[in-house]
Amino acid sequence: MEEVHRKLPFECRRCWHVWEEEYLVRYGEDRHGNERQVWLRGGVPVPPPSEGAICPSCGSQHCTTFPEGYLRRHPELIPPAEPAPPDETPLLSPVPKRLY
Ligand SMILES: [Zn+2]
Repeated sequence: MEEVHRKLPFECRRCWHVWEEEYLVRYGEDRHGNERQVWLRGGVPVPPPSEGAICPSCGSQHCTTFPEGYLRRHPELIPPAEPAPPDETPLLSPVPKRLY
């Protein structure tokens, strides 16, 4: 079984809020040898993002995903208050650089 961390960008079609969700995706096979994916968030199984997400800002279910890494090429879409991604050196200053 293989585990992959994935960070997917979402956009709300109602209020245009943009955010990212981090997932742990477990790839494996079921007993019949069929490929199987389990999406986890915070250790809890969740529906795959292709089945939609709920906007944390307005609660709308009309959300779309961007290709992975899209926001890295479009940093202007991320509001400055976005929390810093998990840091590999959390004991040092986790304070993100201000973008403005
Ligand atoms: Zn929204």
